[in-house]
Amino acid sequence: MGSFRLTGAIHIFEKEIQLPRLGRLRLKERGYLSTSGVHILSATVSERAWRWFVSIQVELEIADPEPIEKSIAGVDLGINRMAQVSDGTPFENPRALQRSLTKIKRLHRIVSRRVKGGANRRKAVRQLAKAYARTASIRKNALHQATTWLAKNKSAIMLENLNVSGMLKNHNLAQAIADVGWCEFRRQMGYKGMWYGCQVKTADRFYPSTKRCLRCGKVKDEMSLDERTYECQVCGLVMDRDLNAALNLEQLITARSAGSYACGEEKSMAAPERDQVLFHEARLVRRTERRNRMSIYLGGSAV
Ligand SMILES: [Zn+2]
Repeated sequence: MGSFRLTGAIHIFEKEIQLPRLGRLRLKERGYLSTSGVHILSATVSERAWRWFVSIQVELEIADPEPIEKSIAGVDLGINRMAQVSDGTPFENPRALQRSLTKIKRLHRIVSRRVKGGANRRKAVRQLAKAYARTASIRKNALHQATTWLAKNKSAIMLENLNVSGMLKNHNLAQAIADVGWCEFRRQMGYKGMWYGCQVKTADRFYPSTKRCLRCGKVKDEMSLDERTYECQVCGLVMDRDLNAALNLEQLITARSAGSYACGEEKSMAAPERDQVLFHEARLVRRTERRNRMSIYLGGSAV
């Protein structure tokens, strides 16, 4: 995996891109790069699992989003369901992702059976890398659909915090990919939030969005991954596990703006939240320009 950045005369044609030193390259994906009215700043050529991509950074003016009334939401990201929004909207994992994961597991077994240093092992490792890249693309695409919808339809969203120490200890493949998805989700929400006017907030790392009862606030000691329903032993609430978590996160937005947090659930912060600062700075920049990156597949070799 590697990449390099090029600046200078970059031109986009219908079927080709012209880069400094490399000349004209044929594009495999066409039609979604604007060829006029944009100022191209730079191009980055990168390689991932024997496939080549080019990203271009462009500068263009856009108007501020119309101040329209939008609702707030909590968003729970998970493994079984990609994302659950507190208004009830679910974003399921694409089935292609599951198929990809099954393939990865099979390829891992094949690699481990091959003799080290042999040509067959090299070939299997290459196939595995390609399967990983494909899985990442499928997930990324699904995440794009969810983040675009949220940025356009919500004025503020609250996400849970990523447990980094737990992530490093976890060797489960599905969990690892879900964790990577969290970072990507957060990144996409960051810039789309600026474009469409949606504030992105993150809960305190120890906020128990999954274990907390939405109705009475009781926090469970344990909640295993296969418990799909939240059942409260105190008040009798029965609710979908992910929806309960999403609604708990939504409540945090209201609690924060009111300035009062339930004891132990949320640490008060002396400095303004980093998220909010970033958001406001970004809004100032946004008035004059919008920087956008688009990746296009250039092509690659088959195994
Ligand atoms: Zn309860």
